[in-house]
Amino acid sequence: MFSYLAGKWRSDIAIDLGTANTLVFVKGVGIVLEQPSVVAYQKINDKKKIIAIGEEAKQMLGRTPSEIEVIRPLRDGVIADFTVAENMIDYFFKQSTSGWSYNKTHVIVCVPYGSTPVERRAIREAVESAGAKRVGLITEPIAAAIGSGIEIGKSRGSMVVDIGGGTTDIAVISLGGIVDAVSIRAAGDRIDQDIIKYVRSQHSLNISNDTAEQIKKVLGIASAPEDGRGKILDVSGRDSNLNTTKKIQLDQTHIAKALHETIKEICDAVVEILQKTPPAITNDISSTGIMLTGGGANIAELDTVLRKRTNLPVVTADDPLRCVAKGTGQALDIPKDLSHIIHYETKK
Ligand code: ADP
Ligand code: MG
Repeated sequence: MFSYLAGKWRSDIAIDLGTANTLVFVKGVGIVLEQPSVVAYQKINDKKKIIAIGEEAKQMLGRTPSEIEVIRPLRDGVIADFTVAENMIDYFFKQSTSGWSYNKTHVIVCVPYGSTPVERRAIREAVESAGAKRVGLITEPIAAAIGSGIEIGKSRGSMVVDIGGGTTDIAVISLGGIVDAVSIRAAGDRIDQDIIKYVRSQHSLNISNDTAEQIKKVLGIASAPEDGRGKILDVSGRDSNLNTTKKIQLDQTHIAKALHETIKEICDAVVEILQKTPPAITNDISSTGIMLTGGGANIAELDTVLRKRTNLPVVTADDPLRCVAKGTGQALDIPKDLSHIIHYETKK
């Protein structure tokens, strides 16, 4: 597929290393890989033998025998398991560059805003050990802003709310830099748990994480629909009292109730940041709008709820799941005056 790149002496790659999904962007081609950031391994003595990575590993979640573990190595936005993360990056990297030599690749990878220098070094080293020649780091909210079409170099402030799997990152950006930001755990995974808890307490039904995520993708909504029920879905699981399988019907009013606290937490965090934002920047945001990115931006009515809460315009980015990857990809061609947004290791 990428063989026409084979003869190139040098290639540029951008990686969005998300808690839920990893995306790889190749310059001149676009996004070439989108896979869950999930690894399955078997523990043999003290060694971890990798069994599956990506989609295949995600399918194993909740279905494995006791000797197999399925983990998300970047769960909370940082590398929780370095060796496993390194294996995963290496695998995705090689998959994206099949057929061409990557030992001269220039890679830009995004890192969570809140990550420490040690965590950033871990990410850099993991990408280097996968074969990259030169590795630049960009903070995720900046990449999300670029990918959603915000001109980050302008002296006009903007706000990005990136709702991922493990974390929601809220950032105020101006002149290519982060003025203020916060990372909270109220995000996609939490919402899945909200749905699990809701159907257990209201319908005595046990469902898997996977089922909860599917329900969220179909019915996910931030406020009760006006027509009463909205979309309806049949859901089966195990009755928590009788231990038999049963089927229930869920609608969007149920899901709005289940999500209420988490949505409120996200809105509260946005308001809190806005209260600390300099008035000139708030003024800018009131004309450009708060930008929603990440998978969680697909939740219906989230923009409306946030708009009501903040009194500011709210825009859902086009293709929110791919914003960070696209933005990191665009950073490969960043103009000189903005080159400071990418951090390279100074060679000793
Ligand atoms: P990360 O950057 O942390 O890897 P992503 O931006 O890829 O996260 O978003 C992944 C999260 O978005 C997951 O929790 C996933 O369930 C959720 N998600 C994906 N599609 C939808 C959708 N249509 N509605 C609601 N949530 C969604
Ligand atoms: Mg992300």
